[in-house]
Amino acid sequence: MPRPRPSVARTPRAADRPARADRPERVATHAVVLRTERLTPHMVRVVLGGEGLDGFDEGPCTDHYVKLLFPEATGAGERVPMRTYTIRSWDPVVRELAIDFVVHGDEGLAGPWALAARPGDPMSFYGPGGDYVPSPELDWHLMIGDESALPAIAASLERVPAGAPVRVFVEVASPADEQVLTSPGELDLRWVHRDEHPQEPGRALVEAVTSADFLPGTPHVFLHGDAGFVRDLRRHLRTERGVPAPALSASGYWRRGRTEEGWRAEKADWKAAVEQDEQTAGLA
Ligand SMILES: Cc1cc2nc3c(=O)[nH]c(=O)nc-3n(C[C@H](O)[C@H](O)[C@H](O)COP(=O)(O)OP(=O)(O)OC[C@H]3O[C@@H](n4cnc5c(N)ncnc54)[C@H](O)[C@@H]3O)c2cc1C
Repeated sequence: MPRPRPSVARTPRAADRPARADRPERVATHAVVLRTERLTPHMVRVVLGGEGLDGFDEGPCTDHYVKLLFPEATGAGERVPMRTYTIRSWDPVVRELAIDFVVHGDEGLAGPWALAARPGDPMSFYGPGGDYVPSPELDWHLMIGDESALPAIAASLERVPAGAPVRVFVEVASPADEQVLTSPGELDLRWVHRDEHPQEPGRALVEAVTSADFLPGTPHVFLHGDAGFVRDLRRHLRTERGVPAPALSASGYWRRGRTEEGWRAEKADWKAAVEQDEQTAGLA
């Protein structure tokens, strides 16, 4: 029997949006750092505030993200580098926007910036955008990611319908990087640790998901993080678990060894490879 096609409400995808030339010019929001908090060895929270956030609207999604701007890293005449980060939480009453940054060493712009951020530091951004919110129409929820997707998973868990089954797999470096996650759903949370396979990031996560028993019915899947394991698990979910494409939100948030610019430049090839996986499996 063919499975019924899930209808999953989505915000407009890139293909549905007007062509770039027809879009209104982006306006940056200007904020300041209010405080920072070290959540775990590899995660720091930066809380932004300031009058520039008056009237800010986080939008309907739970994976809502902003494009942080780093003008100080620009040479004359160059484009301002941007880094994409999830809104972990937005509180319009106290006008506070929290973003959780992976601490991944000295390389890059955003990670080191967050680690060094002090109250009063300015930060401007474009957005928000977003593409996912847990659907009440599907049978259960499956969320899979690494630390970069943990803020979106944490925010999404808070919006799972009460009592809905939700299974979560998150890969972090070690047990010290686990966080407390809560949900009104029936939460089954499984942490996996990269230090089990330090040379093969993503391996523990792929093993955990591919060997897990799934619940009956169609899951609404959120699968994001390092592009390497996202491709492997997307293929697994589509071909071996029969997850229909509309029930799957999956993307590479970043790619090991690439800056965000480098990864953006390769993303079209990665998407083509993912489509090829599906054609090879007779799905596309
Ligand atoms: C929609 C979306 C939402 C995202 N939300 C978040 C979020 O909430 N929190 C978050 O931390 N990240 C998030 N990311 C990922 C983040 O944008 C990238 O990790 C980004 O490359 C970090 O920028 P950077 O300036 O620190 O490093 P870059 O200058 O981009 O890269 C420098 C080096 O660091 C490596 N690197 C980058 N990110 C990581 C990482 N996570 N772990 C290990 N090495 C890394 C790169 O491969 C490169 O070698 C999100 C990405 C997307 C697309």
